[in-house]
Amino acid sequence: MTEELFRDDAALLQCRARVLAADAQGVRLDRTVFYPQGGGQAGDAGVLQLDDGRVLQVVDTRKGDAPGEILHLLAEGTDLAGLAPGCELTACIDETRRRAHMRFHTATHLLCALVPHAVNGCSITERYARLDFHMHEPLDREQLTQGIARLVAEAHPVRHHWIGEDELDANPQLVRSMSVQPPRGQGRIRVLEIGGVDLQPCGGTHVANTADIGAVVVTKVEKKSAMTRRVILGFAETS
Ligand SMILES: [Zn+2]
Repeated sequence: MTEELFRDDAALLQCRARVLAADAQGVRLDRTVFYPQGGGQAGDAGVLQLDDGRVLQVVDTRKGDAPGEILHLLAEGTDLAGLAPGCELTACIDETRRRAHMRFHTATHLLCALVPHAVNGCSITERYARLDFHMHEPLDREQLTQGIARLVAEAHPVRHHWIGEDELDANPQLVRSMSVQPPRGQGRIRVLEIGGVDLQPCGGTHVANTADIGAVVVTKVEKKSAMTRRVILGFAETS
């Protein structure tokens, strides 16, 4: 198991960690700031700094087969010398890439608040985010862009907290106010709350305030099928 530091502090850019194992599949660490691809959000890239001065490129981060397993994928042909189990190193994420993921990811929550329909697809990358809504009504690109801009300007705090399944059972109104049903069976659920705007279970990384999303625009609205409307977000051009 890897301690997932990014779950409680998305602003952490680096951490000291110990190697659990390293092979062609990837590097497993006892703790990490690298978010593994999941929940629609792309994995982190970055570097592993070895204490002998070598710097290894991490090109992507994925979940492994075992529960809680996180694989740091190294560039092809990387020499694994110096990555023996127990070795200490510093794991650093690519800040620019993660920052884009956090801004887009938080913006998709705003979109969920503006479009009250079920989401049946989501992809968050460094350059764009897309969300598929299960609906047949048309969506207006300009109206959505303005709605996002308003929620960004209102500077709502973004917080997460953990709740137990028993707490959820004792507060059925919480489930009703969530746009997504929480996953069951793991004992606790991570809930993302944008005060008065959106509340839903989410394990991704987000900015701390909607103001930090900055200038995001809806670049495209597409009719993917009779019952799917796709919304694509991009960063507004800034000089
Ligand atoms: Zn989220």
